[in-house]
Amino acid sequence: MRRILLWMAGNRWLRTRLPRLRFTRRAVRRFMPGEDAESALTAGAAFQAEGIGSLYTRLGENLTAVEEADRVAEEYLDLLDALTERGMDGEVSVKLTQLGLDLDVPRTDAHLARLAERSAGGGQTLWIDMEGSAYTEATIACYERLKGNHPNVGLCLQAYLRRTAADVERLLPLEPAIRLVKGAYAEPAAIAFTSRRDVDASFLALALGILDAAKAGQRVRIGLGTHDIRLIEQIADHAQAAALPRTAFEVQMLYGIRADQQRRLAGQGYAVRCLIAYGEAWYPWYMRRLAERPANVLFAVRQIFG
Ligand SMILES: Cc1cc2nc3c(=O)[nH]c(=O)nc-3n(C[C@H](O)[C@H](O)[C@H](O)COP(=O)(O)OP(=O)(O)OC[C@H]3O[C@@H](n4cnc5c(N)ncnc54)[C@H](O)[C@@H]3O)c2cc1C
Repeated sequence: MRRILLWMAGNRWLRTRLPRLRFTRRAVRRFMPGEDAESALTAGAAFQAEGIGSLYTRLGENLTAVEEADRVAEEYLDLLDALTERGMDGEVSVKLTQLGLDLDVPRTDAHLARLAERSAGGGQTLWIDMEGSAYTEATIACYERLKGNHPNVGLCLQAYLRRTAADVERLLPLEPAIRLVKGAYAEPAAIAFTSRRDVDASFLALALGILDAAKAGQRVRIGLGTHDIRLIEQIADHAQAAALPRTAFEVQMLYGIRADQQRRLAGQGYAVRCLIAYGEAWYPWYMRRLAERPANVLFAVRQIFG
């Protein structure tokens, strides 16, 4: 089921047709408050009132015209201004292929530099998502170039990739901000762990390794981008045993998933941030959410009759 849904995520024919169906549009509301930035900001303000920070991403990837990337960058700049004007604890997370990585790398670098600068003005971190493995090396290289001039940038790393432990070692000297996730794409066994147990073990080992480095004095910020409460609790226990404060890591979850746990963790003094997506190009992103938990397909199907 996961493979089929991930194949559907990348299929161009479906990508143009499925989002037009009313039931698909209704079902996607579970994972995003609306297509426009204002809906996302309104949702973010409600989270802030509950002590939960926000993280915004405008959906879209693999753009085919570089002018589109320019527009995306401008929209993100407007969003960052809106966050500052409203005094919100909100950050932005971008996909490099949405900023032109496939088309013009120097232009992508320039967009990132502007976004990082604007984020720094509001005391925020600019996060970079990690896409499929064809982009891993280019994304890390881009992060390394950017981090030299902009300390306030963070990068997502995927625990399912066999290379990630080496990537963490490579990045630690840069005093990075790392969002650790399990990984959302279909990757071959040659480069990725494929069983749930191996992916979870990799996530745990990577997170504990980063916390141990922090305990030893390494400057590193870690975000746990997962809804896996068991893993979060194991990591929290380790941090506590090492006498690290509850804020030694941040829990980052998606809008619409485990909202009860987001509130519970924030109430217990953990730093929690909710990623809120918006934009019209939600189809591949939504299919990856279905692939993560095929039970969500039932929810989507129910919308046909709802
Ligand atoms: C803030 C954030 C940023 C992310 N950024 C990236 C990125 O840049 N690149 C990337 O490859 N991946 C990214 N991901 C996705 C990530 O790789 C996983 O695919 C996703 O988080 C599901 O895995 P999990 O860690 O929650 O664990 P799982 O083992 O999949 O899930 C644990 C439990 O959480 C609940 N759950 C998980 N997913 C869902 C869902 N879709 N619907 C309902 N319940 C669910 C279920 O109860 C499940 O049992 C991001 C995830 C988060 C939270």
